[in-house]
Amino acid sequence: MATSGAGGAKARPVKEAPAKKAATAKKAAPAEKAPARKAAPATKTASTKKAAPAEKAAAVAVKKVKAPQTHAGLVRQARRINRELAEVYPYAHPELDFRNPFELLIATVLSAQTTDLRVNQTTPALFAKYPTPEDMAVANPEELEEILRPTGFFRAKARSVLGLSIALRDDFGGEVPGRLEDLVKLPGVGRKTANVVLGNAFGVPGITVDTHFGRLSRRFGWTTSEDPEQVEKDVAALFPKSDWTMLSHRVVFHGRRICHSRKPACGACPIAHLCPSNGIGELDPDKARKLLKYEKGGFPGQRLNPPPDYPGQPAPPLGAS
Ligand code: SF4
Repeated sequence: MATSGAGGAKARPVKEAPAKKAATAKKAAPAEKAPARKAAPATKTASTKKAAPAEKAAAVAVKKVKAPQTHAGLVRQARRINRELAEVYPYAHPELDFRNPFELLIATVLSAQTTDLRVNQTTPALFAKYPTPEDMAVANPEELEEILRPTGFFRAKARSVLGLSIALRDDFGGEVPGRLEDLVKLPGVGRKTANVVLGNAFGVPGITVDTHFGRLSRRFGWTTSEDPEQVEKDVAALFPKSDWTMLSHRVVFHGRRICHSRKPACGACPIAHLCPSNGIGELDPDKARKLLKYEKGGFPGQRLNPPPDYPGQPAPPLGAS
């Protein structure tokens, strides 16, 4: 469903219905509501395991967060969510390995229908053999397909990166252009890919609406739309441009680690006190912690070569996972 465009986003009801457990929240005494604010995102040593039954019940209780009723209220709440996500994920970053704009562009195209992890496990061999657009433009299609096989849809992806490399060589002098209007002219490059490249390889602010970003934007009440372009417009209206790129990373980090598609870990979510969808997922802190896929809980990330400030484990190379 279309919503208002940039500058006109309004407060919206959140579509997803709270789970049954949330219904009990309204009856919780004020003192029982505090635990949701303090939910730790990450540790495996859950001290609550020994909590008395009464304490456990209190921990499960949840304060229902009202969706803001005005645009100004929505902006305030959205920016607060962004600030608190920045505290939880100060090391948020793009989760594709790359060393230059060409590698990021190709990796982003390959990430369709697969995980960033699988792309990161595949690109070292790809870029070792074809380090530039000129090299990739003359690749043998069968050899290219064989390298790309682990990413799925490898024949179509081989055609895509071949066409893309030829266009870069012939139309842009072998360089990845740094403007949205040029990037989207390249074969197989849409707004999402263009924004990833602009935001992370050129420092041009961009909102990247992938599956995680779209889902969380709807859960936060920032949009009601399922259309990535509309989601981008609605969210852009809530934040200054300078926030767009890092906001995208933080929201995706949160979606991958805590606010999962099917089993959001609301009971272990550090921004539950700000989220109008709190309660759609597991509220019991012990059970919620078991759902986390958080680097500080020992899980490897998506990148084989994460930035130096990343606190988790690098992902394993192909064949080791
Ligand atoms: S995990 Fe639950 S509380 Fe946290 S952001 Fe997602 S829906 Fe909201």
